[in-house]
Amino acid sequence: MGENRLMQTWVVDRPGSIDGSPLIRIERELPKPGPGQVRVAISCCGVCRTDLHLAEGDLAPKRRQVTPGHEVVGRVAALGDGAARFEVGDRVGVAWLGRTDGSCRFCRRGAENLCTDPTFTGWDVDGGYADACLVDESYAYAVPDGLEDEAAAPLLCAGIIGYRALTRADVPPGGRLGIYGFGGSAHLTAQLALAQGLRVHVLTRGEHNQQLARELGCDSVGGAADTPPERLDGAIMFAPAGELVPVALRALDRGGTVAMAGIWSSDIPALDYAETLFQERRLVSVTASTREDGETFLALAGRLGVRATTVGYPMASALDAMRDLKHGRFGGAAVLHNS
Ligand SMILES: [Zn+2]
Ligand SMILES: [Zn+2]
Repeated sequence: MGENRLMQTWVVDRPGSIDGSPLIRIERELPKPGPGQVRVAISCCGVCRTDLHLAEGDLAPKRRQVTPGHEVVGRVAALGDGAARFEVGDRVGVAWLGRTDGSCRFCRRGAENLCTDPTFTGWDVDGGYADACLVDESYAYAVPDGLEDEAAAPLLCAGIIGYRALTRADVPPGGRLGIYGFGGSAHLTAQLALAQGLRVHVLTRGEHNQQLARELGCDSVGGAADTPPERLDGAIMFAPAGELVPVALRALDRGGTVAMAGIWSSDIPALDYAETLFQERRLVSVTASTREDGETFLALAGRLGVRATTVGYPMASALDAMRDLKHGRFGGAAVLHNS
């Protein structure tokens, strides 16, 4: 056939500390797109904290030796039967929401992020830490022009989830947003919030993260458990640290909302009702995203000039990238590159 039938791919082999080797890189056959699917030749894949939770076993594996990665940018390389949305060579993005059943009561009411039978990229099906992956064409995204592959990759999870979290935090126009933890997702959300005229207060540990928040023009930057300079209308917890939830709730003004953006969090300590929830304060979570979130966010990001601050790594160095994420050795988002 003239085509190289093998590809290199990382797989979660033995979930455990990232400082060990929970991922290994193996050879596999290039996947063949099924009906309605396309095969994507991967240019870049962003490294999301969820990949780290999967590698370390915080998130139970859905499948043995799954390939992580759900911030994929690449080009369509092969079309399955009936796939007609894209042409070979088109640039596309692949995100966390890989497929939904379209028929459960949540899908039917437009909340496909809550689908009872979803398929997630890099958890249920193989993701982007590889040369190629498959995607159902109706769940792929066109990537806005004017963005390099590396800059676009983190938008596909970090960006979309941050957008949904910002929506869930329900900050009124001109209001005050607190951001707890400042990594890949937060630094994109902060840009969006600032562009929309919100006041943004960042509470985070780590010199790199604090520095990045200052560079982006956030209104204040403090330590992870500090009290922001004014009461918050909404806050987003990007740090997977349950012990910060009461801290964030206490920083809210009346009627404020704390939205937890992560797929995993350490336990939340007992809450003092009067200090944390009374006065109609709310604690909400964020679960995946809808395709509409993705389309809306990518259009906004293109228009408002939301840009990921990225650190590139060769695909072969995925473990290093994940270790650096775990230990807070960079600000912004890590992105893996094929050649
Ligand atoms: Zn459903
Ligand atoms: Zn993610």
